[in-house]
Amino acid sequence: MPAARARLTIDLDALAANYRLFCARAQGAEVAPVVKADGYGLGAAQVSRRLWAEGARSFHVARLEEGEALRAHFGPERPASIYVLDGAPTGTAGRLIAANLIPILSSVGQIENYHALARADAPLPCGIHVDTGMNRLGLRLEELEAVAGATDRLARLNVQLVMSHLVCSDQPEDRLNARQVGRFKALRHLFPDARASLANSGGVWLGPAFLFDMVRPGIGLYGGGPLGRPDPAIQPVVRFEAPILDVRAVPQGETVGYGASFTAPEPLRIAVVGAGYADGILRSASPEGAVWFSGARRRLLGRVSMDLIAVDVTDCEAAQPGAMVEIIGPNLLLDDAARDAGTVAYEILTRLSGRAERVYVGHLDSALSRESGNPVPSRGHELERPGSPLSRG
Ligand SMILES: *Cc1c(COP(=O)(O)O)cnc(C)c1O
Repeated sequence: MPAARARLTIDLDALAANYRLFCARAQGAEVAPVVKADGYGLGAAQVSRRLWAEGARSFHVARLEEGEALRAHFGPERPASIYVLDGAPTGTAGRLIAANLIPILSSVGQIENYHALARADAPLPCGIHVDTGMNRLGLRLEELEAVAGATDRLARLNVQLVMSHLVCSDQPEDRLNARQVGRFKALRHLFPDARASLANSGGVWLGPAFLFDMVRPGIGLYGGGPLGRPDPAIQPVVRFEAPILDVRAVPQGETVGYGASFTAPEPLRIAVVGAGYADGILRSASPEGAVWFSGARRRLLGRVSMDLIAVDVTDCEAAQPGAMVEIIGPNLLLDDAARDAGTVAYEILTRLSGRAERVYVGHLDSALSRESGNPVPSRGHELERPGSPLSRG
């Protein structure tokens, strides 16, 4: 029987290859993957575990809860440094400490509150986020100087990392990039014992001046181009496919789908495909979007609906119910799909819903199994058998 529902395939070996590429380009800086938002929608547990097997020892999440879940998945046998980009908002400190997480404190108030909780004989590990131009999270330079000069505010904190975030890393020609590097360099001396981190995926592509001690790639590991467009050095990690449910003729002059936004200019043959916006195909993918089927890009016709899309297969004999079309994958790259939908690869990935079947291919723990021959496809649920580290938390 052909597959009856949409399928999201996540290639852990491709993820690992992208991680190794970042390691090579980081020139000795630590590569600390960003696995927030459930690993950009791909499964933080699986993604992080493979990255650990590749040698990653520091990870970044956005939220406290993401950090707690990752700590539980890793368990005592994988003692990763887990940084929390939200810092320590009111009420979270106890849980951050209990799960041995490292908040990246992002305001003077957070620093004071976290400091007040620490014991003199056990300084709390933390990072400090400094704003070099984003105007989102982080201390302003003058605040950082004031904090660094007031040692009583820091005595009980073990500041391991000073970090900032790039505003336009996907636009190498933007002058703000150099300005941010300059500002970041100028403040490093305030925390000489802390490591420094500025670059996300795009930042790693901007050159050695951006690397410092640690880089924080996300999207590039998951198959998105670091500069916001397809990059041949990056391997696709995700393949999103859905089955053709029906193939039908549409007479000239009739419309397809809700709102009658598309009218057949001539008699057409269309495939009705079983995936829609509830599966993560953005509604804005029409009218520019397409799928890949039988060796060609085939345009979407009419609006994306909740469960269905329609595709032009007029010249295509291979289009038959049960056949799978590629919505994102090696033939229809993430960044191209994003551009067609007027958005970015990040949004495409994080919208891929849980309704599709999830299949992980490649190895979860690389080193041993890589020697044993071909990767064995594994279903998502098999990765979570009772007793495995992934089933906790
Ligand atoms: C999300 C995030 C990253 C990762 O960015 P990519 O562009 O996905 O590589 C790095 N640093 C911070 C602070 C982030 O919020």
